[in-house]
Amino acid sequence: MTTTDWEPISGAVLPRYAGLPSFMRLPHVPEGDPRRAEVDIGILGLPWDGATSNRPGARHGPRALRDASTMVRAMHGATRQTPFRTMRCADMGDVAMSPVDQDEALGAAEAAVDAMLADGIRPLMVGGDHLCTLPVLRAIGKRRGEPFGLILLDSHTDLYPPYFGGRTLTHGNPFRQAIEEGWLDPRRCFMAGMRGTSYNKEDVDWGREKGVHIVEIEECMARGWASVMQEGRQVAGQGPVYVSFDIDFVDPAFAPGTGTPEVGGPSSFEALQCVRALRGLEILGADLVEVSPPFDPSGATAWLGASVMFELICAMEPVA
Ligand code: MN
Ligand code: MN
Repeated sequence: MTTTDWEPISGAVLPRYAGLPSFMRLPHVPEGDPRRAEVDIGILGLPWDGATSNRPGARHGPRALRDASTMVRAMHGATRQTPFRTMRCADMGDVAMSPVDQDEALGAAEAAVDAMLADGIRPLMVGGDHLCTLPVLRAIGKRRGEPFGLILLDSHTDLYPPYFGGRTLTHGNPFRQAIEEGWLDPRRCFMAGMRGTSYNKEDVDWGREKGVHIVEIEECMARGWASVMQEGRQVAGQGPVYVSFDIDFVDPAFAPGTGTPEVGGPSSFEALQCVRALRGLEILGADLVEVSPPFDPSGATAWLGASVMFELICAMEPVA
């Protein structure tokens, strides 16, 4: 099998609005397909929003992103990368996640990611709400056996204490949980873009006490994103790292289709540059989460999300 078999169908062959949509128009390689052994990067849909504390809808994200991502062409406009020629990328399908049973849903997602890792496939997960990141971190952590770093672009830390009492897991605490479970090294966790009203600062205080590096939006805007991301590389990039991108990182003027928008964030251009700045790091896996199509009537948020996905794939391409 040549690498050409793994390139997306060109819009010059079949118009990009035609045919069955897969992520980036890549081959669909579900579990059991013998071609899985050849895949380098697997794009996996987690259509689940059962941990959303406010406006739901991110369960519809993977389908909207499949559709929007058919707009992506194969060459990066600025870096001229052609990642689908150097890496075999594929659409791994969606995990069947119970919409009503959180443990069952997270377990199914973890098993699917673990099966990918067993085949040597790096995951690019498409959510779903942000708790979908937790089973990915668990699967990677269990296989690695040692903690790894994190780069989070988000308007929230997602280090919040449980809501509604008890030990509730929500999309507001995947990274607190992952640190407590030992998958992430808090001193190699870097978070940027945090903003908005809050009930208190318990999340930020908890994280900083653990050694998490949190750069709130005022500092990001004062210093500029290039400086912020350079620091992120130094903090998180000394070893293997996971990259998580919550679409609410971007200003809601550009990305209104999400459950918990916060005004006063980066533009879509700045957000893409933040991801581009990560090239060359040892990226174990990545995700794009929290696109909520019911709040995205124009489709602009899904299109931005698809563009972020392509930027993540380009960041994951090894430097020659
Ligand atoms: Mn967020
Ligand atoms: Mn988040």
